[in-house]
Amino acid sequence: MGEILDGKAIGEALRNKVAVGVQAFVERTGRKPGLDVILVGEDPASSVYVRNKAKSTEAAGMRGEVHKLPADTSEESLLELVRSLDAREDVDGILVQLPLPKHIDAERVLDAVVPEKDVDGFHPVNAGLLFEGRRGLVPCTPWGCMRLLDHAGVDASGKNAVVLGRSNIVGKPAAMLLLQRNATVTIAHSKTKDLPDLCRTADILVAAVGRTEMVRGDWIKPGAVVLDVGINRKPDGKLAGDVAFEEARERAGWITPVPGGVGPMTIACLLENTLRAAWARAGLPPSELPL
Ligand code: NDP
Repeated sequence: MGEILDGKAIGEALRNKVAVGVQAFVERTGRKPGLDVILVGEDPASSVYVRNKAKSTEAAGMRGEVHKLPADTSEESLLELVRSLDAREDVDGILVQLPLPKHIDAERVLDAVVPEKDVDGFHPVNAGLLFEGRRGLVPCTPWGCMRLLDHAGVDASGKNAVVLGRSNIVGKPAAMLLLQRNATVTIAHSKTKDLPDLCRTADILVAAVGRTEMVRGDWIKPGAVVLDVGINRKPDGKLAGDVAFEEARERAGWITPVPGGVGPMTIACLLENTLRAAWARAGLPPSELPL
């Protein structure tokens, strides 16, 4: 029976660490790190995420500001806001909540965030740094997965890692981070053949497909670490991951639940990224960042 990787508790410990770092930052610079979140429209799920982000930012001792814009905001005025935040000294992190309304070119907007403030790690400069194995701002969800591996004391070096999903937000960066840790990485997607057999080779399995409980118990290699990124709504309204948790737990060594696994790590890593961005912008030595 696999041990549960409790993202709620591990995320809280990380948030506390960030709060200590924030205090150190305030003492050294005389100002708080600042995260500005832009929400366009009233998508209910996005509104909840944004509210949670703002609350956690303040709880960590940072300045948090939410910019709410109506759904019919033009691309130009959204870009204007992004550029004004790019220019502001007190803004360390800019997060544009996705999805954006259809009339707005999301890529153009995300590209307008200066890479130093791109706490989501979606800018091509940060994606490129990650690809090269250099340290930029890393997307929060896959970074949270790495922190969970660290907590489990898993050394990925030489292990087989299978990442299900190839999005720019989760799958690809997760694969790059595992590669940096010297895992032998396979990226699977909707065209991959014999998925169950492939998964059975995985010492580390990251599931980020968005398909309710697609990964069954007999897909899991005994003792594997299973990181379930999926957040899916079942017909009864309950949340479920991409992995059939109870079955998979029988064989896994470590496994994340949904909810309470990868999800809470994502927000903790957003705070970590904001502190990292602030620290770098203030020119403080990275070696003194207490993370
Ligand atoms: P995307 O929809 O962008 O990507 C899904 C990926 O899964 C694609 O690469 C797709 O392949 C692949 N896929 C879809 N169906 C199958 C299948 N049947 N077999 C194999 N591969 C398949 O999703 P995201 O990466 O944005 O998110 C993935 C999941 O993670 C979602 O449930 C999302 O809600 C959740 N999520 C959770 C977060 C958290 O904080 N915990 C944060 C972000 C996302 P192809 O490329 O071929 O289409």
